[in-house]
Amino acid sequence: MNYYVGIDVGGTKIYALVINEKGQILGRAKLKTGNNTQFNIVFERILECYRMACSTANIREDEINAVGLAVPSSIDSNRRIIKHAPNLGWKNIPIGDLPKEKFGKPAFLDNDVNMGTFGEYYFGAGKGYKSIYGMFVGTGIGGGYIANGVIIRGVNNTASEVGHSIIKMNGPQCNCGNKGCLEAIAAKVGMISYMKKLVDQDGKKTILDKIEPNWRTTVGSSALRKAFYKGDPVVLKALKRSARAIGVAAANLITLVGVEAIVLGGGVIEELGEFFMPRIKNSMVKNTFADGAKGVELLQSKLGDDAIALGAAWFVRLPENQAMLFR
Ligand SMILES: [Zn+2]
Repeated sequence: MNYYVGIDVGGTKIYALVINEKGQILGRAKLKTGNNTQFNIVFERILECYRMACSTANIREDEINAVGLAVPSSIDSNRRIIKHAPNLGWKNIPIGDLPKEKFGKPAFLDNDVNMGTFGEYYFGAGKGYKSIYGMFVGTGIGGGYIANGVIIRGVNNTASEVGHSIIKMNGPQCNCGNKGCLEAIAAKVGMISYMKKLVDQDGKKTILDKIEPNWRTTVGSSALRKAFYKGDPVVLKALKRSARAIGVAAANLITLVGVEAIVLGGGVIEELGEFFMPRIKNSMVKNTFADGAKGVELLQSKLGDDAIALGAAWFVRLPENQAMLFR
């Protein structure tokens, strides 16, 4: 039997799992990323999490065939440089052969939502479709585009960056430097700026002051959910605007590349799926051209926390991807 490990490296947690060659999950491990996000220190924790996952799965490290690593960053086209991971404060980290050397196995590095979409494509909501686009909504918005089983990266590796597609010219400032990007409106960063404006300039009141006093810097998806169910008008406005914007982005994806299904995931969608899904669908249908959305499925992700790590493990398992691994 052959075994594979996928590791999801996030701003708050590192999550690893071990699969067998059928894609069955044999063990999982989770570690806090920690406050010191210096690359070398986080990499030590990645290795620790890897060992923990092997031990929960009862698999020796020398039985592992390959390791897939997923990071919240754009990656250069040779997958040797972590270009920019704002949640971890990493910029232009030349990762090179490090994963191969540290794990002592063939290894692979990719963007986290590429891997999450890959997981959903083979095991989750995207199973059975030829082409899907994944959109994961959290602090920012990541994307992944898969056609006929192949991750489409684009000439400069930006084909999956739906969060930075501009949906409003001269719109709100985005952390990437441009204005009016989807995530600057619809992700939590965008909702926070908008809610600050409603409270500070328009004098609106929000219950977030009580349930999440730090909401101006960072807000949990569960706090948004709580505030929404308590009928908070500020949160409701921000969520409605976010759903409309995601619908516009979904419509644009349909018009540009014509996918069969769009899979929505991430903390915000997981907590507030029943609010978001129908609204996004309305906006998507309304903003497509010539019945473009007809028959296109809008689906909620099924794998939850496993999506990214499972996608990364399955990616390094498939024979057609072996040439892409660091060896
Ligand atoms: Zn942007």
